Amino acid sequence: MSISIIETNWTWNTGLTSRSATKYIALHHAAASSASAADVDRWHKQNGWSGIGYHFYVRKDGRIYRGRPLGALGAHVSGKNDVSLGICAEGNYTTEQMPDAQKRAIAELLDYLKSNFYPSAEIVGHREIGSSDCPGKNYPLAELKNYKNILNGGELMSYEYDELKRRYAELKEDFDRLRASREPVYQYGVSLPDWGAATVYKLVNKGFLEGEAPDNLNLSESMLRVLVVNDRAGLYD
Ligand SMILES: [Zn+2]
Repeated sequence: MSISIIETNWTWNTGLTSRSATKYIALHHAAASSASAADVDRWHKQNGWSGIGYHFYVRKDGRIYRGRPLGALGAHVSGKNDVSLGICAEGNYTTEQMPDAQKRAIAELLDYLKSNFYPSAEIVGHREIGSSDCPGKNYPLAELKNYKNILNGGELMSYEYDELKRRYAELKEDFDRLRASREPVYQYGVSLPDWGAATVYKLVNKGFLEGEAPDNLNLSESMLRVLVVNDRAGLYD
């Protein structure tokens, strides 16, 4: 799977160093309902850090921004930075619910990182390896640890969509067949059989029957028979 990462050009206040290992991929929230990657970079510089402390920052609409370079030491879990990579989600998941677009983007990012770089890294919430409530009680932590289900769910949805399209094509064929086999549809004067003409003219004159268009009664043969039988029974007199 290829994912789209928005490359950035941060200035670092001090030089970055490398991380010694990647035992954890730590999930965070910004604890802010609306914040750009640049906002986070500014806040972290205000903390006296070199710049944005996370390796990735994911907006609510699913856009993924690069923070620190992949192998760099981050600043996101006190005491565990040397062994963990950090992904932060825009939003306050103490109170908000994560939008699907963001959840899916984080699942794709996790898949990308696990498949290509850190197959044995454990996905954890910040609070599981540090002293914090982050990423908030509403953050879909269990779901994202099983990120493959989210990705497979997406495949299921596209499967269902294909299935619906196939069913629609079949239904359309059924309709076309029905149309082709439809009984004769009568028009005023032109194709009315003798046995039905008197009844039709009577009903039109009385205003009981109107065509869809001036010359089209849109009247099927079985309906015409019903009308004629009713007429002979005196219903329209
Ligand atoms: Zn955190």
